[in-house]
Amino acid sequence: RDSCVSDSSDSVISSGSDSEGQAYKVVILGEHGVGKSSLARIFGGVEDCQDCEETGNTYDRSIVVDEEEASILLYDIWEQDNSQWLKDQCMRMGDAYIIVYSVTDKSSFEKASELRIQLRRARQSENIPIILVGNKSDLVRSREVSVDEGSACAVVFDCKFIETSASLHHNVRDLFEGMVRQIRLRRDSKEE
Ligand code: GDP
Ligand code: MG
Repeated sequence: RDSCVSDSSDSVISSGSDSEGQAYKVVILGEHGVGKSSLARIFGGVEDCQDCEETGNTYDRSIVVDEEEASILLYDIWEQDNSQWLKDQCMRMGDAYIIVYSVTDKSSFEKASELRIQLRRARQSENIPIILVGNKSDLVRSREVSVDEGSACAVVFDCKFIETSASLHHNVRDLFEGMVRQIRLRRDSKEE
């Protein structure tokens, strides 16, 4: 099973159980319908609940990457309500961001660029890890955004890029492991 989850209890919120006693806050952003909640549920190990409540959810998992455990709080709350307060809060709170678009929806790709710009504005001097995700790569015939367009965009926006399929669980593990590596790189460079 392509699960990115190793071992964790999912009931404890913010237990801060990794070696540094700190959980990393990761916020997942993107237009409605691109697959944010699907990806987040795979991360949280609860992807089987088809009729999950579609309001905000937070997933608390520990994953082992490169033989080191990382405690992650994944916030799928971007669409919880339409308040500007929540959007501002999301832009401020993350230690890292996952910006998702659907490869079958050009406008969601354009929205992803917009979010990247907003994020840069909100966190100007900080070099926050961001991963641009082109989801629904399984929908080959309705593709509107090529892999090259996605990766070129990531170069321009100075972030990592990966295409995923939440439906097929393709690259989802790589996405979350890559995210942990990015957070560590940033953490280690800050400690210098
Ligand atoms: P959200 O609004 O961004 O949270 O998107 P959801 O996770 O609710 O997904 C929206 C719709 O797209 C749902 O019907 C999902 O089943 C579907 N979906 C999500 N990811 C994929 C994917 O990788 N491939 C396909 N074919 N459908 C997907
Ligand atoms: Mg959702």
